[in-house]
Amino acid sequence: MPAGLNEYMGKLLFWVVVILGFVGYVAYRLRARPARKRVEGKPVHTLDSVRCAQCGVFLPVEQSVKRDGQSFCCWEHAQKWHDQHPS
Ligand SMILES: [Zn+2]
Repeated sequence: MPAGLNEYMGKLLFWVVVILGFVGYVAYRLRARPARKRVEGKPVHTLDSVRCAQCGVFLPVEQSVKRDGQSFCCWEHAQKWHDQHPS
């Protein structure tokens, strides 16, 4: 076995370890990031969303318009629904 081949194999093994380490680090970072994002995004999911009784669009509850116990996306739809459902 020539000595040069041994040296070459040593260098190759060194780079394989470096690349595997880098790939492992990147894979770890990529796996760690969405997990943290999911935790941060959780309050957004727990926010109540309501459905406009007139057009059926979903929107966050704080952006909705409340009228006669119904939720609407805008005052125009609240008025429209009220005109169609006289009580
Ligand atoms: Zn609407």
